[in-house]
Amino acid sequence: MTELTPLTGNARAPDRIDLSAEPETGAGCHGGKDTMIEAAKKAGKTEILDQYAQDYPLGPHDQPQSMCPAFGSLRVGLRMRRTATILSGSACCVYGLTFTSHFYGARRSVGYVPFSSETLVTGKLFEDIKEAVEQMANPEKYDTIVVTNLCVPTASGVPLRLLPDSLNGVRVIGIDVPGFGIPTHAEAKDVLAGAMLKYAREEAEQGPVAAPSALPDRPSVTLLGEMFPADPMGIAHMLEPLGLAAGPVVPTREWRELYAALDGAVIAAIHPFYTASVREFEAAGRKVVGSAPVGRDGTAAWLKSIGEATGASAEQIAVAQNTILPAIQGALAAKPIKGRITVSGYEGSELLVARLLIESGADVPYVGTACPQTKWSEPDREWLEAKGVRVKYRASLEQDIAAVEEYGPDLAIGTTPVVQHAKAKAIPALYFTNLISARPLMGPGGAGSLAQVVNMAINNRVRFDKMQEFFDGVGEGYTGGIWEDTPTDRPKFKAKYAAQNALAAKAAEAIGS
Ligand code: SF4
Repeated sequence: MTELTPLTGNARAPDRIDLSAEPETGAGCHGGKDTMIEAAKKAGKTEILDQYAQDYPLGPHDQPQSMCPAFGSLRVGLRMRRTATILSGSACCVYGLTFTSHFYGARRSVGYVPFSSETLVTGKLFEDIKEAVEQMANPEKYDTIVVTNLCVPTASGVPLRLLPDSLNGVRVIGIDVPGFGIPTHAEAKDVLAGAMLKYAREEAEQGPVAAPSALPDRPSVTLLGEMFPADPMGIAHMLEPLGLAAGPVVPTREWRELYAALDGAVIAAIHPFYTASVREFEAAGRKVVGSAPVGRDGTAAWLKSIGEATGASAEQIAVAQNTILPAIQGALAAKPIKGRITVSGYEGSELLVARLLIESGADVPYVGTACPQTKWSEPDREWLEAKGVRVKYRASLEQDIAAVEEYGPDLAIGTTPVVQHAKAKAIPALYFTNLISARPLMGPGGAGSLAQVVNMAINNRVRFDKMQEFFDGVGEGYTGGIWEDTPTDRPKFKAKYAAQNALAAKAAEAIGS
């Protein structure tokens, strides 16, 4: 591989990239996964794919049915201040990703470097990406530019590592986020968060870096995983008796928060799938603690783990617990939840939500998460299994739906297709992502927060039964589709065509023999 040509003024010399591997232009997320992996390995991406396989282990189900993984890293980049985002991938992928990011209120442009078979084969695509980075590297506007290879450029080996580390004082970070290497969008958040932490850690190792906008007057706890904005405030309150402050939430919203995150006294892996980020924290010499301050038992155990990791005395830990646990218990008792609930999702906080529901009084027989099993969710798994809950990591849609069928819950919390399935059976259902994970979960604030929405949904069962009775049979079988008249079944036609088909098949067999 040739060296990058130095960038001098506006003059650019083309790179000579040896893309000897066959580029893959036709496959996407609906097919050719093995072909894509093989092509990517041939094109020099073996190391990164092996790292992803280690960080985001597959199995028992290989590819949870979720959105394009790159949405996770795209969202992390779009939320960072003074950060520009460039995607390199098929137009249809970029269309879907930008549509979704704007649907979720990105309010920021997404850069796109399109390609054709020719630019992919000749290495011109990398040239185009480099040119786009040069055009955007304006330090007055940006601290960082994030370039993301989607499936096809990753499979074709487009070498983002050859981009300069910084340009005009603007950091440049290139990441590969292929659907065939990263199972969920949750884990793709970790790919970018981890890459930024690595960059920031290396900067900090080289000399002084920018101080955070607000310097805490005591050691802080870095919070790993996106959470409801009120949760870090609640956590700060809980940490006070331990002599600790709540530090930044990773993924961060601005670059210098990364230094503060790396400087935390301990890292709280609230979401358990940030493997690459944890690697960077551990490289910075930080301890990582799993689970979260959710419900009474969860908060008691979490305060103990955090206290022990930061050298707090047994008395301090007891004071911290005694200060907050009665309030949590009171909030749980004031807003009970009655009913059987199945929980499934792909955010990574499913086990925490299940704990909170159980402590609120719900019967939760099943929790499915698209995320993998890691040691940071072990306390939650153990607690749930001790209560008789079946916990499924890397759960497939089929497993989540089978749980709804098996347990016949009063409420199914899940992803869109699980919710659809439940509602079609007149079972009340709530979307995990929009309605559950967008609520406070931690401490006393989180203790009663699910009750209102969950109880309202459970009490809606009567409406579901009425609707099912009213619409019974509509939209199924011969009543499916759009009609101007009352649909009529035509069993004779079906029988006729079935007979004709059978005859045609026999005739084809006869010709073949
Ligand atoms: S980038 Fe996303 S949408 Fe495009 S092929 Fe890959 S997984 Fe599918």
